[in-house]
Amino acid sequence: MTILDGKSLSNKIKGELKAKVSALVEQYQVKPGMAIVEVGNDTASEIYVRNKVRAANFVGINARLIKKDSSISQEELLKLIDELNADEGIHGIIVQLPLPKHMDERVVIDRIDPNKDIDGFGILNKGKLFSGMKCFQPATPLGIIKLLDAYNIELKGKEAVVVGRSNIVGKPMGMMLLLRDATVTIAHRYTVDLKKITKEADILVVAVGKKDLITADMVKPRAVIVDVGINRDGDKICGDVDFENVSKVASYITPVPGGVGPLTIAALLDNTVKAYEQKMQGLTL
Ligand code: NDP
Repeated sequence: MTILDGKSLSNKIKGELKAKVSALVEQYQVKPGMAIVEVGNDTASEIYVRNKVRAANFVGINARLIKKDSSISQEELLKLIDELNADEGIHGIIVQLPLPKHMDERVVIDRIDPNKDIDGFGILNKGKLFSGMKCFQPATPLGIIKLLDAYNIELKGKEAVVVGRSNIVGKPMGMMLLLRDATVTIAHRYTVDLKKITKEADILVVAVGKKDLITADMVKPRAVIVDVGINRDGDKICGDVDFENVSKVASYITPVPGGVGPLTIAALLDNTVKAYEQKMQGLTL
């Protein structure tokens, strides 16, 4: 069994991006800029946002964190996004989710200029992804594809099962595996016999948020296991997969922490540099 070491790969990608950014800044005399808009105080988001800012600064991206009180109106937030869309120094915009209840996430996210939508959550980027066109792909599934590629794991013709169908992980993951010629099944809360489905998987991606959802008896021998879940286990973090026992059956497996998480950030930085490069070359999506 081989551990899919997301942390090492993330460090490698960040090192490469740092060198690339330095060369591009030399060429264009403009630094890449990213804005992260955080509305309200969500502790989990705050840790994630801090990590994003630190990683962006490391690779040479100016990361601007804009915090707004949860009482801000949707109109005021949309106005802020309009300003960031027009800001020449900002090449990528992230609006941290979830937003307060009085806001319509769809409306807010779709206000981001698609050329600055580095999360790939806007409707245009999503539509392009589902049409197999060039776009900004959501960071978590993009990071997973980078990880599988780094270990030369063949996707073409493989049975791939994705457990979870959220708009930010499960659905785009399924589509990205399909674009790589895997045969894809997406399971969810109403899947009747989950074990029957997961047992067929050569590649199993689990993105649910339930500790020990996937046990060793649910996994095909020699399967590749990607655990996206982040769950609290006392003072520790764990995924959705029973790592100890599943790792005895699998050929490859991601640890939690140190698997998918660090790659999500690396993929987001990669998207930011792409957005910057595109702008500098006068191109659009
Ligand atoms: P959501 O809560 O949006 O989606 C969870 C999905 O799991 C839903 O589609 C739900 O189905 C499905 N589900 C729930 N229970 C079951 C079950 N018993 N069997 C099968 N499917 C089930 O979560 P996210 O996609 O945003 O995140 C999933 C996990 O990944 C979380 O733990 C999150 O913290 C983590 N995460 C980690 C990231 C990283 O960088 N490592 C990035 C993003 C998320 P239904 O649609 O029917 O309700």
